[in-house]
This record gives sequence, C-alpha cells and structure tokens, in this order.
Amino acid sequence: MSSPRIPAFFNEVQLAFKPLYEWAFGEKIDHPETTARAESILTALQAESALFDVRPPKEIPLAALRSQHSHAMLTLYNTARTLPEGETFYPMVFPNLKRGAGDPTNLHQAGAWCFDSGTPLNSQTLTAAEWSAACARDAASALRHEKLPLTYSLSRPPGHHATRDLFGGYCYFNNAAVAARYLRRFGRVAVVDIDFHHGNGTQSIFERDPKVLTVSLHGDPREHFPFFAGYAHETGAGPGEGYNLNVPLPTGIDGKVYLDALDRHALASVRHYAPEYLVVSAGLDGYHKDPVGHWALTTEDFHAIGERLGRLGLPTVVVQEGGYHAEDLGTNLVAVLRGLRAGQSAAGR
Ligand SMILES: [Zn+2]
Repeated sequence: MSSPRIPAFFNEVQLAFKPLYEWAFGEKIDHPETTARAESILTALQAESALFDVRPPKEIPLAALRSQHSHAMLTLYNTARTLPEGETFYPMVFPNLKRGAGDPTNLHQAGAWCFDSGTPLNSQTLTAAEWSAACARDAASALRHEKLPLTYSLSRPPGHHATRDLFGGYCYFNNAAVAARYLRRFGRVAVVDIDFHHGNGTQSIFERDPKVLTVSLHGDPREHFPFFAGYAHETGAGPGEGYNLNVPLPTGIDGKVYLDALDRHALASVRHYAPEYLVVSAGLDGYHKDPVGHWALTTEDFHAIGERLGRLGLPTVVVQEGGYHAEDLGTNLVAVLRGLRAGQSAAGR
C-alpha cells in the first residue's frame, strides 16, 4: 500500500520579509535568516513531487494569534507595517519593565516586547510571520482532518524562541505552539525541539500546561543562545510541573552522542507521557556546516533522527525552525521527513 503524499504548507509572501543584517556581539553581520533558506527547502520539496504536496495555507484566524500572543505584540507588529519600504528597525533598548508597560504604537519602545538585537521589524514582518503561523495551523489541521500520519509546515520566519509577549531569536509568533495548541483540543501533545538552540518560547507558553509535554535538546545555554533558559532544572510550573524536559548538550557533539541523548532522554520521556500527537520543532542548525549552530550532525544523522521520531508511531506535524546553511538545508529537511516516514512505516502507521 502506498502512503499518501506529505502536505507541505508554504505561502510565497513569506519571502517578502528580508532582514538584511544583525548586530551579533557588537558586530554587524549578514542576517542568517535569509529567504534562500525557504527557497532551498521549497526546491528540495518540489524536486520530489511524488513524496510532497506543496500547498498554500489558509489565512490564520486572528483569534488563534490573539489567544497565544499579547495584544501589545500584535499592535507593535502592526506599527512596524507603517515603516517605509526598505527601512528596518532594530530594538536596542530593553527596559526591565513590568509586563504590559510601554507603548506598542511607538517603535522606539519595541524593546519592551523583545529580548535581543538580532530580530528586526519592518513593513513586511507581520505578513511573513502571520503566514508562517498559518502554515503551522494548517499542517495541524490537515493532520487531524485528513487523518494523515505526517504533515510539514515551511514556517519562515521561525518561531520557537517567541514567548507569549516577547519576540527574539529571529522569531515573532511561535509556530510550533500554534500547531500544538490546535492539536491539544483533541488529545495530549508532545513537542520535541531538535533545533541547536533551546526552544525557550515553546517552553514558556506551555510551562503550566500538563496537556503539552515540551522536550528540547540543545547546545548548553551557559555558552549558547538564548543563555537565560534551557537548563535541566527547568521542569515546568504549577500544574505543568514535570511536563518540560531540557537536555543541554556539549558543543561539537556528533550524531552518535546526539542520537544516544535523543533515545535515552527525549524519546523515553515522550513514550512515558504517551501523547496522541507529536509536534517536531525541526531546527537543522546542528548541521556540521551550519554558520550559527555548533554541532557536527550530518545529513545521515538527520535521517536517523527522523527515523527515531517516526518510530514513536504518532501522527506528527513537523514545523520548520532554524538551519542556516541554506545550500544544504532542503536536503537535510527532506532527510528528516524521509526518516520520519520510514520510522512510522516500521511502527505500523
Ligand atoms: Zn536555532
């Protein structure tokens, strides 16, 4: 029996947002979150039309964003819409304000909702971020309504660093959280974040929620972004206590070490939780050629990671996160999805 094609959601307007540079540790560098990333993935998906069905998403209902992110954050992105074309605003002042303080109609106060200087705003930010979130919502909706084993969201800009009321780490809306919040209405959800960087936004959004298990394997935050979160002692809060697992890993590790940690910690915890759905925050910046991440994973390792996730035998939404070696990004993403499909087949799904 042949499996159905894997729907892959993407809207061309996501390419209109072009951050040009960022300030990283005092230096002005070319912005790693380029449109070439999405184009590389799109090319790889379209080259395998027997396996992937690239579809445009439907518009995301405003309520789906409003229930997840603060009103002020949405107002701020709307304010950025009024910037002249080609002009970009970089938050530089980050006041330690009480939540909700600041004027979101004044871009100079954008730092009240932002935690770094690498995540700029311009007139296209909101449109791209909205459609990026729309892809995740439709990938979750298709999984459920078409009873599919696997769907993919080409979310760009990425999302896993965005909290309810803070953007940062190139992320504006938390796309994986959009997918998980959609699915949690129908059963328990596990989110496994394989990006090199800790998924601090996803952790924070579900911190108190026992219906969503959040698991992240990432570069040790003592040395790597986002620095202030991702430690092993962060295990959830209140009713969500025990439903967050952080697995910080050393710099420079190879696939063998990574897969061992994935098996022994992340997947063991997901199996124990026994969710109905899986959301994978698929950051591929652990790749050995990646200019931003600091691991030594190969394309074969990404296939193996997908295969192990697939063996969980769960209906799975894969949401794109980081990965900055644009040239090989599409190949690596296809490796994850092929691996997932193989694993799911082995698990009888
Ligand atoms: Zn990352």
